[in-house]
Amino acid sequence: MSRYFTAAAVDEAITPPVRINYTKLLINGQFIDSTSGKTFPTLDPRTGEVIANVAEAEAEDVNRAVSAARKAFDEGPWPKMSAHDRSKILLKFVDLLEKHSEELAALETWDNGKPYERSVNDDIPLMIRFFRYYAGCTCISLWQHSCTETSEQTPLSALLASKLLQEAGLPPGVLNVISGYGPTVGAPIASHMNVDKLAFTGSTDTGKIVLELAAKSNLKPVTLELGGKSPLIVCEDADVDKAVETAHSALFYNQGQCCSAGSRTFVHERVYSEFVEKARELALKRVVGDPFKKGVQQGPQIDSEQFEKILKYINFGINSGATLEAGGERFGSKGYYVQPTVFSSVEDDMPIARDEIFGPVQSISKFRNINEVIGRANATNFGLAAGVFTKDLDNANMLSRALRVGTVWVNCYNVFDASIPFGGYKMSGNGREKGIYGLSNYLQVKSVVTPLKNPAWL
Ligand code: NAD
Repeated sequence: MSRYFTAAAVDEAITPPVRINYTKLLINGQFIDSTSGKTFPTLDPRTGEVIANVAEAEAEDVNRAVSAARKAFDEGPWPKMSAHDRSKILLKFVDLLEKHSEELAALETWDNGKPYERSVNDDIPLMIRFFRYYAGCTCISLWQHSCTETSEQTPLSALLASKLLQEAGLPPGVLNVISGYGPTVGAPIASHMNVDKLAFTGSTDTGKIVLELAAKSNLKPVTLELGGKSPLIVCEDADVDKAVETAHSALFYNQGQCCSAGSRTFVHERVYSEFVEKARELALKRVVGDPFKKGVQQGPQIDSEQFEKILKYINFGINSGATLEAGGERFGSKGYYVQPTVFSSVEDDMPIARDEIFGPVQSISKFRNINEVIGRANATNFGLAAGVFTKDLDNANMLSRALRVGTVWVNCYNVFDASIPFGGYKMSGNGREKGIYGLSNYLQVKSVVTPLKNPAWL
């Protein structure tokens, strides 16, 4: 079988089934232009063409958004509302998300390039689960005021969702959403003296900047959800077909652009050859194309910078002596499509085994025994997630305990739920999102001491 795909050009881009209605900043319940009047283009990764021009916030807009949030918290109705009333607003929002799920999914696919079937069947239902779960938790949390910066690469779906939240009855200023670039919007938020808490999701390099800005301003607490280089370990007793299939989706899901991507696949030497052959076949069968087309499994990468970075790492893989089993080139001639790529015989010191590529590049290495693979899996600055494939409960237990990561998936991968805490060890971040632990990031412990009159029990 050929190592390369028949590089059929991607068809003409399908017209997305959605209209773009929200491109401005949401401040104090109103969609408004930025102070400077500037906009920035958000691009279609299928073609590199402009989808829409979005209001570009800068420091002055951050000040306006933070003031609105502060006022909503200090003087507005939200913090004084009963848990029951807050919960009703969030549940109404969930109903609106359900009603507009196809629209939200189409915007996300258009901006991000992920297959529409995945956006509509995975992302939106998961988002709905999260809000429904936390709507039930408003009895213990205030879900404070918020100033949110969208990613400059994918602002559109968040803007529509924030409109739906206003429609559900969220008081003005409780949520403010501003779009723009990291140094001109993200940095002023991180260093703002009037922001009480920061939750950041992004790369480890940016996480360091944000933490430093928080420390140098008002020491606001920061939770960080950062990058990963997650090991997926296939033991000799594993169900190989299941492991191959799961390792494939663990890496290639969302074009490989997942913080938790299983990007270091360690396979026991006894099943290694079989695994590599089957992983290669699966990658060659993966359907790449317009993410709006039914049956497409992989769309384009998010932007030209990411596309170039991935191709650069593929070349590192080839030049450092890994074996290219599948892919290795761009797909088609337009947009940011990359062939699903598989390397075998990957050594731990190669750049493709060390760095987060954030693209459709699977790296397969061989191991001989459990202790060896534990050491190798942990020999990284990251610690976000791991996968373990084995039928032996003792192996599963030992690996789960020994791997220095925030989530271990046993005989499965990328299973998320609102109730399962998620976050990283080491340079993959700090703090946990989701579940009851996620709420603790937003709570303070306060001791109140008062003399008791006639305490009968003393
Ligand atoms: P990124 O770090 O380039 O950007 C993330 C955000 O940071 C953007 O909104 C950007 O505007 C902002 N930013 C950039 N420079 C800034 C600065 N100087 N000051 C303040 N803010 C700044 O990351 P990305 O490319 O958008 O996302 C990919 C990364 O995110 C990967 O490393 C991935 O693993 C990670 N990620 C982690 C999780 C998780 O839960 N751990 C989830 C998703 C993505």
